[in-house]
Amino acid sequence: MFELFHFPGGVKPASHKQESSGTPIAKAPLPPLLVMPFRQNATGAAAIAVKAGDRVLKGQRIGSAEGAFGTPVHAPTSGMVRAIEERMLPHPSGLPSTCALIEPDGTDEWVERIPLDPFAANLAQVRERIRDAGIVGLGGAAFPSHVKTKAAIDTLIINGAECEPWITCDDRLMRERAAEIVVGARILGHLMGAKRILFGIEDNKPEAAQALRDAQGECDSGSCQVVPVPTLYPAGGEKQLIRVLTGIEIPYSKLGPDFGVQCFNVGTAYAVTRATLHGEPLVSRILTLAGNYERPGNFEVLIGTPADALLPLGAPKPDTDRIVMGGPMMGFPLPDRSVPVVKATNCLLAMSPALFPPPLPEMPCIRCGACTRVCPIILQPHELYWYAKSKNFGKTQEYHLFDCIECGCCAYVCPSRIPLVDYYRFAKAEIRAREKEKAASDRARERYDFRLYREEREKEEKAARLAARSAETKAKLANEDTAKIAAAQTRADNA
Ligand code: SF4
Ligand code: SF4
Repeated sequence: MFELFHFPGGVKPASHKQESSGTPIAKAPLPPLLVMPFRQNATGAAAIAVKAGDRVLKGQRIGSAEGAFGTPVHAPTSGMVRAIEERMLPHPSGLPSTCALIEPDGTDEWVERIPLDPFAANLAQVRERIRDAGIVGLGGAAFPSHVKTKAAIDTLIINGAECEPWITCDDRLMRERAAEIVVGARILGHLMGAKRILFGIEDNKPEAAQALRDAQGECDSGSCQVVPVPTLYPAGGEKQLIRVLTGIEIPYSKLGPDFGVQCFNVGTAYAVTRATLHGEPLVSRILTLAGNYERPGNFEVLIGTPADALLPLGAPKPDTDRIVMGGPMMGFPLPDRSVPVVKATNCLLAMSPALFPPPLPEMPCIRCGACTRVCPIILQPHELYWYAKSKNFGKTQEYHLFDCIECGCCAYVCPSRIPLVDYYRFAKAEIRAREKEKAASDRARERYDFRLYREEREKEEKAARLAARSAETKAKLANEDTAKIAAAQTRADNA
């Protein structure tokens, strides 16, 4: 019997999984235009490696990895690069970013795919393959996976909890492609020297758990275990799942590897198998269309597909008034329906006033403490709210704002209907913007100081050169005078 632990707080919203989990994954058709952002996460944008007019093949690298945390981006299909231009991204800020606009040619012709045996190759080669395939965490954060594989750990957790209501893309992936997930888990475990692999799945997905159990023949030892965990939001949060499966409480500002544990999403494990055994970079993902649709379901979608090309597959009902990227707890409204699917897009949730009534007006905080009781990180949400609202950002940091995982549990139970997470996002964005500004002004000041130093040094060097030259001239003149005097003396002596 596997011993399970509890994480603090949590809530139990209606799961609404059955609406979209009943039908197999369908392949989304090629859209007329793909909008491929060079930036896929917060760790940086890829360097542009194509130009308008280039023909590209499916899987061809169109953006190169920059720096230790960079990941490349690849053409999702074959076709012509029509333009490189700024387009709006699916991000709460709605800010634009540079994208390649690719017109598919309809042939879906792959670049040469070179498989790599991950158990025969050396570890650095396998990490390089994961990076070159552009693999990032597909559970939402899109953090570069090759960076996470550098940890040495005892326990690898493969996260199939999928705790957010309505979303079922991981559930369908586990049901239909369990063998490749198990192989991906083995590869990741091998890279980090894990002694055991645990698949954590919420107990409302029995078919997915059974599919993974059936696929465990792919696991070469008894060290792989499928563990159903109680359905309690946010059991799929990294620290929460680690707590439930291992009992380890990861404190503020620490990460799983500090305690010998690392976590990857099931979709990421699947992508690792495709990248190594099949030589395929990450150009597609599974995405849920759920909520106010006539035909909700899961689709395999090319990264870069505009949302408005996908929504008709689910047929949004006429009263749909909002599309949210993600689930109702952590998602955010799409700034525009033309924005593309990125690697982190797991769901396009259609909302209507009937299904998701618009929030009622915000009321003052009555300090009831309900938010504190459900916070899985043991933060004090009402204090964070108060300091974020009053723009006392120093205090928000003292209260561990950046440990907030934006799960939304606090806002879910708040009787005053305060959109608490919006305040935390605002405070985080402000702090990041100020830090960026400060870093830029520090860099400018360093450049200025260096220029002054260089000018001073050049002045000194010039003065030293002039002094040396003048001393040389003086010495030369003195030598000439001495020679002249000696010659005159000689002439006088001879006369
Ligand atoms: S739940 Fe809402 S009203 Fe209650 S303390 Fe928290 S923020 Fe205030
Ligand atoms: S959103 Fe942040 S503060 Fe609110 S419950 Fe979740 S972790 Fe706690």
